Amino acid sequence: MKVDTKQRLAALRARMKDTGTSLVAIAPGSHMDWLLGFHPHPDERPCLLLVAPEKETFLMPVLNAEGSRESTDISFFTWADADGPQAALEAALDEIGARSVEKVVLDETMRADFALLLLDAIPGARHSFTADTVGALRMRKDAAEFAKLKMNAAIADRAMQKAFGSIRPGMTEQDLAAVVKDHFASEGAVPSFWIVGAAGNGAFPHHQTSDRKLQEGDAVVIDIGARTEGFPSDITRMAVVGRPPEGYGQIHTIVEKAVQAALKAARPGVLAKEVDAAARKVIADAGYGEYFVHRTGHGMGIDGHEPPYITATSETVLEDGMVFSIEPGIYLPGRFGIRLEEIVILREDGPEILSSLPRDLHVAQA
Ligand code: ZN
Ligand code: ZN
Repeated sequence: MKVDTKQRLAALRARMKDTGTSLVAIAPGSHMDWLLGFHPHPDERPCLLLVAPEKETFLMPVLNAEGSRESTDISFFTWADADGPQAALEAALDEIGARSVEKVVLDETMRADFALLLLDAIPGARHSFTADTVGALRMRKDAAEFAKLKMNAAIADRAMQKAFGSIRPGMTEQDLAAVVKDHFASEGAVPSFWIVGAAGNGAFPHHQTSDRKLQEGDAVVIDIGARTEGFPSDITRMAVVGRPPEGYGQIHTIVEKAVQAALKAARPGVLAKEVDAAARKVIADAGYGEYFVHRTGHGMGIDGHEPPYITATSETVLEDGMVFSIEPGIYLPGRFGIRLEEIVILREDGPEILSSLPRDLHVAQA
C-alpha cells in the first residue's frame, strides 16, 4: 500500500500538538499501515513506531530490520533475542527526546506486554488511546482511499449478483457462500467474511454459515466482504427462494425505510447518534424496536470495522470524507432476519452510496 508518510506524520503531529500529546506509540497493525503503508511482521517481539513532536524512530526486532528497511527510511533501534528490547527502547526514547513525557498515546491494538514495557520506560506518563490522534485522522479518507473502497465495492456487487444468480433450493448456505468466495477469488480479492443465513438462521445477525439446505420460502440474508489492495468491502442484501415467507414484505419495507431515514439524516455536522436514532425511530415506530439488536453502522477503511461507529450514544461529529455503513435490521427469532447494508462516503451534500445494487428483495426461482 502506497501512502504519503510525510504528510500523514505531519497531520499526526498537528493533532499531537492540539491534544498535548508528547509521544505516540504504534504497534504493527492497521494504524501503522495508515501511517507508513506497511507493518513489520507482528509477533511477540516488541516492535514500536515511536513518534515524538520533532522526531520519530522504531524499536525493531533485529530479525525484522532488513525486511522492513525496504519499506521505510525511519531510523531503527534494533534488539536481538539474546539481549531483550529494554536497552534499545531506552535508547530509542532518548533519540527522539521522549524519555520523560507527560502524555503518551498508545495504539489500542498493541499487545499488553508491549504497552507495559513502554509505560515502565516512561514512568509517570498519562496514557490514552488513539481516538483523538491517529484514529481521528483515519476517519476522514482521501481520494486514493475512496478509489480503493469503490473498487472493492464494485467487486462485492458482482459477487452478490453471482450469489443471486446461483441460489437454488437444495443448495446449502455454505454452497452459496462458496459461490461468493470463488467470485471474490476470481477478481483477486481475498474473502474476509461470508454470512449466509436462511430463514431462522438469518435472525442471528452474525450467523455462522451452515450446511442448512435452502428451501422454498426461505428468506436469505447475504452479508459478504473481501479485500484487495489493503481495503475491504462489506454489503448485505436479501434474497428469497420462491415465494417470500408470511409477513416478509412488510418488514423489508420497514428496514428499507430505516435505511432511507439514516441516509437522509447523515450530513456533515450531524452527530453519529442522530443517524442511529433516525434508523431506529422508523423501526421502533413500526413496533419492531426490540428486534433491531445492533448499532446502525460502523466506519470502514483499512479496517473493516473502525470509527466512526454509528451507535445510539456516539457523540462523534460526522464530517465530509468519512466512510461508514448504514445497516439496520430486524431479526424475528425462528422466522427470518432482514438486514440491508450500504457503505457510504459522506459528502458535503449527503451520503454517496458505493454499491450500485438496489436494496430490493432478490427473488430466485424455486
Ligand atoms: Zn457492516
Ligand atoms: Zn456487513
